[in-house]
Amino acid sequence: MINVTKPYLPDPEKYKRYIDQIFASGQITNNGQLVRQLETSLTTLLGVRNLLVVANGTLALQIAYKALALKGDVITSPFTFVATASSIIWEGLRPVFADIDAHSLCLDPRSVEAAFTPETSAIVPVHVFGIPCNVSRLQAVADEHDVKLIYDASHAFGTLLEGRSLLGYGDIATLSFHATKLFHTVEGGALVTDDDELFELCKRMRNFGMDGRGDICGLGINAKMSEFHAAMGLCVLDDFSTIQTARRAIYKRYRDGLEGAVLFPGDDSAATNNHGYAPVIFASEAERKAVAGALLENGISARRYFYPSLDELGFVPGGSPATRSQDISGRILCLPIFPGLAEADQLRIIGIVRANVSSSIA
Ligand SMILES: *Cc1c(COP(=O)(O)O)cnc(C)c1O
Repeated sequence: MINVTKPYLPDPEKYKRYIDQIFASGQITNNGQLVRQLETSLTTLLGVRNLLVVANGTLALQIAYKALALKGDVITSPFTFVATASSIIWEGLRPVFADIDAHSLCLDPRSVEAAFTPETSAIVPVHVFGIPCNVSRLQAVADEHDVKLIYDASHAFGTLLEGRSLLGYGDIATLSFHATKLFHTVEGGALVTDDDELFELCKRMRNFGMDGRGDICGLGINAKMSEFHAAMGLCVLDDFSTIQTARRAIYKRYRDGLEGAVLFPGDDSAATNNHGYAPVIFASEAERKAVAGALLENGISARRYFYPSLDELGFVPGGSPATRSQDISGRILCLPIFPGLAEADQLRIIGIVRANVSSSIA
C-alpha cells in the first residue's frame, strides 16, 4: 500500500546517540537540554524571533487562544484539519466559519469581514498546504475590528513570503510537528511570536503556569515536550535539506505529468512552496471519485484533505454554509508525497490519474 505520506525516519544510529546522551544526563523531560537545543535550531532555521516547542500542534493553538484571552466568537476556516475548529470549541469559544478563496484555499478576507459578530474576539486563518493567506488584508481587517490574529501555520514550516518567514505574521503562529508533517518530532508543535512578553506568558502556560523558579504565576497546562521527542526532531532537522530536495523532485514530477489534467491550487510567485502536500483539484466530484477509486484499486491511498468542509460537521454550531469550501472539499485529493516514493510508483500514479480524468481542465 502506498499512503499519502510516510513518517520520515532518520538514521537509527544517530537517534541512539541522542538517547545515550539523555540516559547519561538523567533528564528526560521538563525543558531539558535537547528541547532547548531544538528551539535554538528551529529559531535560526525558520528565521523567527521567538519559538516555543510544545507537546503537539493542538495544544499550541489552545495556548495561543488562552494567552491572547480570546472570548466569544472566533472566525476561522472551514477548509482545514478538524483540530483548528475543535481546539476553538474545546476552549469554550465559538467557531464562526467564513468562506475560502477558490485560488489560495485560505480564508477570503471579504468573507471574514462579513462573518463579524459583536462577540468576535479573533480570526484564526490557516495557511492550508503551506499556501500563504492574504496576510496584509487579514491584518488590516483584524486591526480595523481590533481583534487578535492567530495563524494556524501547521502546514507552513519553512515557507517564505517575500523572502521573510510566513510564521512572522499575526499575533501568534502555531506549528504542528506530528509524524505526518513535513518536519516532525513524532508528536509536537510550536508557537511563534514577535512579542517577547506574550512569549514569556506562553512559556509559563506550557508548564502549569509556573515561571523558571517554580513559582505559580497564573493558569497553565502541561504542554511540555520530552527529550525523546526533541531528539527525534534534531535528527529530522539534520536531514531537512535532503527531505526538501526529495519532495521538490516529486512535486515537480506531478506538475509535469498532470499539467492540464488537474488544477494545482495556490501558486503564489511571492512565496516559496515547502512541498508538504501535493493537492490537486478535479473538474468535478465524479472525476475525483473515479480517480480515488482507481488509485485505491492499485494499492494507492490518496487522501481527501480536507473533507468534509468543517461547517458541515454535526457538533459545530451552525452558520451560513461555506459554499466554496464545500465545493473544493468535493473535488480535491492529496497525492502521495514523501521522500522514498519510487519514481516508478509515481509515474503509475500519474498514469492512473490521467486515465480517469475526462479532458483538459485548464
Ligand atoms: C496537524 C494539524 C493540526 C494539529 O496538530 P497536532 O500536532 O496533530 O495536534 C492543527 N491544524 C492543522 C491545519 C493541522 O494540519
